[in-house]
Amino acid sequence: MCGIVGYIGQKEANGILIDGLKRMEYRGYDSAGIAVLDKGNIFSLKRVGKVAELARAQINFSYRGSIGIGHTRWATHGNVSECNAHPHLSTGGNFAIVHNGIVENYAQIKAFLIEKNYTFHSDTDTEVLVNLIDYHYQKAPCSYFAEIVRKTLLHIKGTYGIAVMSEIFANEIVIARKSSPLLIGLGEGENIIASDAAAVARYTKRVVYLNDGEVASVRSDNFLITTLHENTVDVVCHELDWEIHDMDLEGYPHYMLKEIFEQPSVIENAMRGRFTTDGCSTKFGGISLTPQELRAVDHLLFCACGSAYHACLEGKYLIEKYARIPVDVEHASEFRYRNAPFQRNTLVFVVSQSGETIDTLAALHEAKRRGYTVLGITNVVGSTIARATDAGIYQHAGLEMGVASTKAFASQITILSMLALLLARIRDMDTVVGVQYVQALKSLPVIIGEVLKLSNSIQLIAKKYHNYKRFLFLGRQAMYPVALEGALKLKEIAYVHAEAFPTAEMKHGPIALVSEGTVCLFIATQNELLDKTMNNIQEIKARGGKIIAIVNNNCIAREVCDEVLTIPEVHSGINPIVSIIPLQFFAYYVGILRGCDVDRPRNLAKSVTVE
Ligand code: GLU
Repeated sequence: MCGIVGYIGQKEANGILIDGLKRMEYRGYDSAGIAVLDKGNIFSLKRVGKVAELARAQINFSYRGSIGIGHTRWATHGNVSECNAHPHLSTGGNFAIVHNGIVENYAQIKAFLIEKNYTFHSDTDTEVLVNLIDYHYQKAPCSYFAEIVRKTLLHIKGTYGIAVMSEIFANEIVIARKSSPLLIGLGEGENIIASDAAAVARYTKRVVYLNDGEVASVRSDNFLITTLHENTVDVVCHELDWEIHDMDLEGYPHYMLKEIFEQPSVIENAMRGRFTTDGCSTKFGGISLTPQELRAVDHLLFCACGSAYHACLEGKYLIEKYARIPVDVEHASEFRYRNAPFQRNTLVFVVSQSGETIDTLAALHEAKRRGYTVLGITNVVGSTIARATDAGIYQHAGLEMGVASTKAFASQITILSMLALLLARIRDMDTVVGVQYVQALKSLPVIIGEVLKLSNSIQLIAKKYHNYKRFLFLGRQAMYPVALEGALKLKEIAYVHAEAFPTAEMKHGPIALVSEGTVCLFIATQNELLDKTMNNIQEIKARGGKIIAIVNNNCIAREVCDEVLTIPEVHSGINPIVSIIPLQFFAYYVGILRGCDVDRPRNLAKSVTVE
């Protein structure tokens, strides 16, 4: 779930490990630790709380080495304490391990090991793993470290990403994965292991991802990957498309604010090289389907979680409106357990910023098992989902450090809008309309730049309303997913109860919630239904609710609203992308005013790799 880092090379590992852990802090964790091999012996250092605490302690830690492993823990077994923090050492200290995931059969193995005189110093499932490795080594000493780890893992039920080092095998680190990401960053005379590319991007852009069921022996100048059953593996090296500045705050107080402001260039990157030369359609190098194959598709299914799910709902509105292809959107976590009937010519898309979301991955496998072609939209090159799909589209949004998605969401809906155009042009949309759509998309970076100037006005609105306890987000048609995403942001960032409804649904129940303490945010940029929305605004007003309206023309009766924010009036294919920006700011400023840690909201992890 959280972070693994490992270093093997000529440099001193300590600082590199701490730096790697810092780079993964955005994922959320409760304690951290490192272990290094100094003059043939393993020494570990652990702290509860922030990596900064560990970094401070590290200054007085007298052990240094050029091989080491580190971890940020998100406790599953055993409370948050120094002795439960990783790395864990085997009884006798020959092996050290860091582990992400859960060993499901740890209780039986622990009982077995206690009988064999192994002692335990933590309540974790992880300590069982390291002692079982030692047990297998003691039972049949062999000169292949990876072989011992492999033997051990054959007895393990559950999920793991592990990195193991040893006093006996002093010039290698062995890593293995099952449903928990791991990669090797390839350097010159050094290799860096991590569960997240963010930890290695500062040192190298060349990475090799491990697949499920693979074990790797990593040395300073080479590595060898095999499967658990000793089969050889074809190694694919990926080139990261992140820049170092993605990881720095560059003067912003928070990553969330920085990433909101990055959206003009993020959207430009999502579009770069993806317009056809005739200027009236889009193309995606990653989608290998021919126009004939795309034309034969008569149903689309999108599976995703969280913000990506909202992006897919937006895709549904746009694709159905422009391409006239029926679209279903499923929560990935539900789809995998649901035996939903779909047409034969269904094309499946899975969408995940990290490309590691376990529920989305499971939906992908389920769709493939049922024989569908599955395409992916992800932001992380070489991620598990990117590798497991038949083909796909990269977002090129750069590393997103804020746990709650902003720029990655905007880039997902940009890509889905472009997909709507591509499919529409294959079907009914004529050239002139296609040209207008392309021009609208191309204007996005400038228009978003305009909307970003509203930051201060939104901050003032947030100041007035941040103490309210109930927020309702209301939008019609393509603004409904925008409303859902706006409400989710406020929940995630400011811990305020927020709900979203299609505007006209209010009177069918939710209006009972409206009182003087309720703030209703209307995303009233859907001009076709503005008269109806005006009625709904009046209904809220009559019941004492506060009204914040986001509008894009002057037709709305401003005097009825408590606050009005005007954004540019744009083509409906890009309207959702423009309309989400004020809601991102709103969540950010309310979160700040309520004293929340907006970059690392409580209880959340950046990519959810547990079920
Ligand atoms: N299950 C392990 C523990 O509780 C690993 C948790 C994690 O993934 O950080 O220590």
